[in-house]
Amino acid sequence: MARLRILVLGSTGSIGTQTLDLVRLDPGHFEVVGLSAHGSADALLTQVQEFQPRYVALADESQASGLEDQLPSTTTLFRGPDANLEMIEASTFDLAVHGIVGAAGLRPSVAVLKTGARLALANKESLVLGGELLLDLARRMGTVIIPVDSEHCAVHQCLRGEDPSTIRQVILTASGGPFRGKSREELRTVTREQALQHPTWDMGQRITIGSATLMNKALEIIELHHLFGLPAEKIQVAVHPQSVVHSMVEFVDGSVMAQMGPPDMRGPIHFALHYPDRAPAPAQKGFSLELFSNLTFEAPDRGSFPALDMGYECVSQGGTSGAVLNASDEVAVGAFLEGRIPFHAMGELCAEALAARTESSIDVESLLAADGWARKFTEDRIQTKYSGPNAARL
Ligand code: MG
Repeated sequence: MARLRILVLGSTGSIGTQTLDLVRLDPGHFEVVGLSAHGSADALLTQVQEFQPRYVALADESQASGLEDQLPSTTTLFRGPDANLEMIEASTFDLAVHGIVGAAGLRPSVAVLKTGARLALANKESLVLGGELLLDLARRMGTVIIPVDSEHCAVHQCLRGEDPSTIRQVILTASGGPFRGKSREELRTVTREQALQHPTWDMGQRITIGSATLMNKALEIIELHHLFGLPAEKIQVAVHPQSVVHSMVEFVDGSVMAQMGPPDMRGPIHFALHYPDRAPAPAQKGFSLELFSNLTFEAPDRGSFPALDMGYECVSQGGTSGAVLNASDEVAVGAFLEGRIPFHAMGELCAEALAARTESSIDVESLLAADGWARKFTEDRIQTKYSGPNAARL
């Protein structure tokens, strides 16, 4: 059987390295055609030496010259801000695993789908910004978006062979993050270090902070809405601290299907790499009494964690609202990690940005313009509120 030709976008990040871990275990199944990174030239070079891809892309121009000299003669380098797009266009591939972080992932998602290849999508921002656009494009090209987000992968699996019109509701599970049970007042004094301690999942920094604010879940509400065409009223969030039930679907007959497993992103990545087949993964653990003996569910505290309401609001508003929420959160999380704003300010800044602007257009240019606007708006608000002479006390 011919090997599956894959691109790994964002190959030095959390999703990218775990993807390559799985590829390494099953080398006869995959051919790595291309790898890309933002600026981690050294890590990328190590991957190139191991996987010998035909193409490699590095977005940060300043890191590119050092890399170019050391590449094997059979590997072509694309460099600069459009490097991913150029690599996607040049490559012949069956599947792209897209683990780029942030709104910068939107154009690569569009580019992959335009080739007709399958898109294994971990970059949730693509869907948060341009879900409508991407789903429409996938339909027109006769291809599919395979979600590489544990919750959405779970829903995808629960829906195999089911008629989507028979969904009563989807229950999106949330770990609740490190601050589950804390009051609004207590959240005013939590630190960056506390926020970065995720109880169950090992993930990138932005998602980890997003789990502490529940903004990650808000973005996942929007993602779920687009992927499966669900209205806001069919999306529930349940806090499930053990992160074993990755999400559930309740059907019109009252039956509830859940997809379960240890909290390990290699599960959803493996599923996406082999979709539509179910392939053996001997190293992946499944059921164990230790893990499954105490599964609990509770309602989220929407007062302490206002992000959830913003997710629902974006589902109702549509247009550029997802782009605005995502961009504002990216800037706010960056400022929080730099110690410039307190924890609770992240939600406040996002709410201000959402209230200030939404447009109905959903073409790539409008979405990215809204993204740019929200970044500037949020940064300006941070300057005014937290760095100026009248700055609020941290
Ligand atoms: Mg998730």
